[in-house]
Amino acid sequence: SNTNRFSTAAAVEELITPQVSINHTQLLINGQFVDAASGKTFPTYDPRTGEVIAQVAEGDAEDINRAVSAAREAFDNGPWPKMTAYERSRILLRFADLVEKHNDEIAALETWNNGKLYDQAAKTELPMFVRLFRYYAGWADKIHGMTIPADGSYHVQTLHEPIGVAGQIIPWNFPLLMFAWKVGPALACGNTIVLKTSEQTPLTALIVAKLFHEAGLPPGVLNIVSGFGPTAGASLASHMDVDKLAFTGSTDTGKTVLQLAARSNLKQVTLELGGKSPFIICEDADVDKAVEIAHFALFFNQGQCCCAGSRTFVHESIYDEFLEKAKERALRRVVGDPFKNGVEQGPQIDSKQFEKVLRYIKSGIDSNATLECGGGRLGSKGFFVQPTVFSNVQDDMLIAKDEIFGPVQSILKFRDIDEVIRRANATQYGLAAGVFTKNLSTANTLMRALRAGTVWINCFDVFDAAIPFGGYKMSGNGREKGIYSLNNYLQVKAVVSPLKNPAWL
Ligand code: NAD
Repeated sequence: SNTNRFSTAAAVEELITPQVSINHTQLLINGQFVDAASGKTFPTYDPRTGEVIAQVAEGDAEDINRAVSAAREAFDNGPWPKMTAYERSRILLRFADLVEKHNDEIAALETWNNGKLYDQAAKTELPMFVRLFRYYAGWADKIHGMTIPADGSYHVQTLHEPIGVAGQIIPWNFPLLMFAWKVGPALACGNTIVLKTSEQTPLTALIVAKLFHEAGLPPGVLNIVSGFGPTAGASLASHMDVDKLAFTGSTDTGKTVLQLAARSNLKQVTLELGGKSPFIICEDADVDKAVEIAHFALFFNQGQCCCAGSRTFVHESIYDEFLEKAKERALRRVVGDPFKNGVEQGPQIDSKQFEKVLRYIKSGIDSNATLECGGGRLGSKGFFVQPTVFSNVQDDMLIAKDEIFGPVQSILKFRDIDEVIRRANATQYGLAAGVFTKNLSTANTLMRALRAGTVWINCFDVFDAAIPFGGYKMSGNGREKGIYSLNNYLQVKAVVSPLKNPAWL
């Protein structure tokens, strides 16, 4: 049968009421919650039902102007630039403690607004968020320049200074982690921020930003503007008084914001964009383990990961066995209310993404890939999609080329390593790749040959605050997390003076 044996329509219709209230829906500018200048609001939804859960202030150009002025003033004249790096570090640490204290209610709000598993939010993402701020708190007072022995007659030093006002635009798939990856390093380096959240998931950034102020962050240092891309987002990207832009989202929008930055003030831009990551399972693989990791690599977070292992390449010698087991695993996947224990998959974020995923499934069928299981919606409300597996996928099919961003696994067969390297790299993207093998020299060959910002060997989706993440090719530029992210938020100033200083002669 093509339907999931464990997830019935009822499983996605009897829903738990979230144990959290929504207290903050305004914009956060200069340390104050305020309405949008226009007075406008927009609805935000529960993806389990498609019902409105709150009306949120809708920021646009005028609110971005207000937020950028506040950030500029805080950077130029506020207490923030006068603080020692140690004091900044202490604020980040106090903030991490406060988030930890409110872990479960923040996680509940993240699940309610996004549809991700509550267990995942509460036990993995919130702790990672906290860990990331502690990690960057550790860096704050260890950022310094160098002395450089120039030609022997000069004393040369570099000063590592904050860039200024950072504009940050984030997507909806990991609302809090994307906040952390951007805000952590920017504040550790001493910048001030205007952050535009995703219009699908505006809620959690507002509560954590409020906690940041409770932790002692001066007003104007971190401003949060909820709103839409073409209005609030575009105003931020093209603002003349924003010094740096960090963007995460789709490759198309990445191109747009880069153009907006170029046409305005040439602000520095880092981009984290889409992907179509290969997961390569070699002939020596333990098939059961490979099936489990490949399943996780694709289906994790409802398939809504920029680095999802969305091209499962399987060696021909184990292909049939792998296929049977991958299908069996997908059929066992428990879809349901993300607040319930034991559920493995919640709803897609919204009707637009839901429809897009269903269109790609149709395109897979139309292009003669074999639909092994799934293929449709689950239940009659909300945005639940059956775990779907396609076999017999060819490289030129849309489902093998485009980012689907949903629970749709595409399995491709390969014969030898050179062939799979060529095919894995034949994509506009280069965000991540996975390799499954016991053979060290195969692993060494693949890790060097794959053109991607991350290569996971015998694992997938391992994230840590210290591990850099970012893309080759059209998956973006710059690296987030780790020491590498500090470069995104620092200017280097060279200071040169003669050793025999004429001023003293
Ligand atoms: P999106 O590009 O539609 O939106 C991302 C953000 O950009 C949102 O805040 C949106 O409001 C804003 N935006 C949209 N149009 C804009 C414009 N004209 N000017 C300025 N801002 C604008 O992407 P999405 O649907 O929210 O997220 C999914 C995409 O994000 C996927 O392609 C995924 O791969 C990518 N993503 C990448 C990473 C990464 O680290 N590489 C992480 C998460 C998501």
